[in-house]
Amino acid sequence: MSPFRPRRIDLDKTAALRGHRLWLEWRRKLPGWRLYVVNHARGRCIVKHKALTVPSWAWRKSTGFVTCYLAHEISHAVSGSLKHDKRFYDAFKLVCPLRHQHFELRYKPRNAARNGIGREPL
Ligand SMILES: [Zn+2]
Repeated sequence: MSPFRPRRIDLDKTAALRGHRLWLEWRRKLPGWRLYVVNHARGRCIVKHKALTVPSWAWRKSTGFVTCYLAHEISHAVSGSLKHDKRFYDAFKLVCPLRHQHFELRYKPRNAARNGIGREPL
């Protein structure tokens, strides 16, 4: 069986994101996992294939947004939860730098707020 690869991979952004400080730190807790940047509508955590994806459009926002998106997908993998529940957010608060956590409120405002994600620090 050939190894899994998502469709529509952005090779340049994938290479760049694999050098991101968060990925270098957390991949040690995720043996065998691979990270890809893809031209898709959404990122995913694909447990069966040990693959994380981040969508390339995130780069049109800001580097903080990209960091938060990456932290989100890493948090699914390290928490073992594919939901946006307490277990997921407990991991997210460890993974995502505090100054970038507020971006999560755009994606899952109620779940994030209920689980202690705060607004942008002043
Ligand atoms: Zn998610």
